[in-house]
Amino acid sequence: MEYILSIDQGTTSTRACLFTADGRVAGSAQREFRQIYPAPGMVEHDPQDIMGSVMSVAAEAMVRAGASPSHIRGVGITNQRETTIVWDKNTGKPVYNAIVWQCRRTAEYCEKLKNSPTAKEIYRRTGLIPDAYFSATKLKWILENVDGAYERARRGELAFGTVDTYIMWRLSGGKIFATDYTNAARTMLFDIRNLKWDNWLLDLFGIPACMLPEAYPSGHLFGYTTAEAFGAPIPLAAVAGDQQSALFGHLCLSAGDLKNTYGTGCFLLMNTGDKFVESKNGLVTTLGACTGGRPPYVLEGSVFIGGAAVQWLRDGLGFFGDAAESEKLATSVKDNGGVYLVPAFTGLGAPYWNGEARGLICGITRGTTRAHIARAALESIAYQVGDLVQAMSADAGAKITRLAVDGGASANDFLMKFQADILGCEVARPAAVEATARGAAYLAGLQTGFWKDEASLPASREVKVFTPTADESERSKLIAGWRKAVSRAL
Ligand code: ADP
Repeated sequence: MEYILSIDQGTTSTRACLFTADGRVAGSAQREFRQIYPAPGMVEHDPQDIMGSVMSVAAEAMVRAGASPSHIRGVGITNQRETTIVWDKNTGKPVYNAIVWQCRRTAEYCEKLKNSPTAKEIYRRTGLIPDAYFSATKLKWILENVDGAYERARRGELAFGTVDTYIMWRLSGGKIFATDYTNAARTMLFDIRNLKWDNWLLDLFGIPACMLPEAYPSGHLFGYTTAEAFGAPIPLAAVAGDQQSALFGHLCLSAGDLKNTYGTGCFLLMNTGDKFVESKNGLVTTLGACTGGRPPYVLEGSVFIGGAAVQWLRDGLGFFGDAAESEKLATSVKDNGGVYLVPAFTGLGAPYWNGEARGLICGITRGTTRAHIARAALESIAYQVGDLVQAMSADAGAKITRLAVDGGASANDFLMKFQADILGCEVARPAAVEATARGAAYLAGLQTGFWKDEASLPASREVKVFTPTADESERSKLIAGWRKAVSRAL
C-alpha cells in the first residue's frame, strides 16, 4: 500500500491524513496547540509548538494507517495563511513568536493606508485591500520592534516565511527555503500578475528582499525531508494555503467553480481562471493552486460570523449544549415565524462593509420561541453567504449553478437545504468534510505521479447534493425580509 501524507496546519489545531490512491483516508490524527494572547486583539503561536504538533500528528497518522515511511510517496502541506514567522538562517531560531493572521496589532497603521492613494496601487499589484490580516505589516512590525532585527535582516541573517515556509525549512533541515503562489499572494508583498515579489511594496514596508523565500506553483518538488523527520527522506511535493487547498480539494478546477467553508466564519472562493476580476463589492483577488504554469486567479470573500452565530446561541443564550442540536430546534417549527437575526456582532463585511453595524433580532411577536430564534440564526448564515455569492457572481459575470461546501457547520442538513433554496442552485457536500487536507494531497499526488492527471483524481465519495425546492416568490419574500433586517442593522 502507498500513500500521500497531507499535513493541515490550521489556526487552532494541526491534522495529518494519509490518502490512498482510491481517495480514502487510511489514517488520520489531530492535535490542538497553544494559543498565545499577549494583549486584547493580539494572537501569537510559538513556532516550536507548531512543529511539535506537525511531527506528532504525522507520526500518529502513520501508526494508525500501519504505514512505514517507505510507503509514503509524497508530502503535501496546507496551512493557516498570512501568519508570519521570522527566524535566524544559521541557528533556525525564531526571533519572535509567529504573529497570527487574526492579530490586530498593526490595524491602526493599516487604517491610515486604507484611506490613502497607496491603497489603490496595493490592490492593483496584490489584489488585496490593505489590512492587518495580511503578512506585510506583521513582518514590518517584527523588523521594527525586535531588537536589532532590521539590521540583521539587511545583512541577510534572517529569513521570513509564512507557516508553510517555516515547516518546509524545518523538515528539510534548512535546505528548502520556499513558498507557493497561494501563500505568497496573501503576504501583500507579492505581485500576483507577474508572479514575483514586488520591489515597490518591499520599499513601502521596508522589507529587505534577501529575507524572502522563492515562490513556486503549489504542486512542485520543493525538495526532500531529512531522514530524521519521518524516518526516511520523502519528497515535499505540494504546498497551498488552506482556503485554496480546499478549493482544489473540491475539484473546483475550472473558471466559475466555487466553494464555501462554513466554520467560525465563512470563506467563499471562486476560481476565475485567467481573469483578474476587479471587484466592485470589496472582494479580494488572490491566486489559486496549480501544478505548473500559471495559477488561476481566485475571487475571495468572507462572512465574519458564520458558525459563530450558533456558538452564540449555545454559549451566550444557553439554547443547547451542542451546536448540532441547533438543527433539531430549528426544524421543530415550520418556518421562521417572521423572525430575522442579523449577526453583525463585529460589523458587516462584503457586500455591506459597515464596521459600526451591530446585531439584532427583529420580527418578534408573542408567539416567538427559542426555536424561531435558532432557525433565524441558521438562516442568517445562509443569507450572508447568499449575499456574498450574489456579489461574486455579479463581479465575475458568471451564473452560479453549484456550490461545493465544507466546514463544521456544513454538517447541518437544514442549513444546507436552506442555502440551496436561497441560492436557487445545488449545494454539494462531500461525506467526509476534509476538503482542505484533500487538496494538498491531490497536489502532492499529481506532482509525484501517484495520480496521473487531474482527470484521474479520486473525487470525494458519497457527495450529498441539496436541491432547491423553494419557488421564486417564496425565495424573494425570504430575501426581502432579510434585506429589511440588514437595513435596520446598518
Ligand atoms: P473553525 O475551523 O473555524 O474552528 P469548524 O469548521 O470546526 O470551524 O466549525 C465550527 C463551527 O461550526 C462552530 O462555530 C460551530 O458553532 C459550528 N457548528 C458545528 N456543528 C454545527 C452544526 N451541526 N450546526 C450548526 N453549526 C455547527
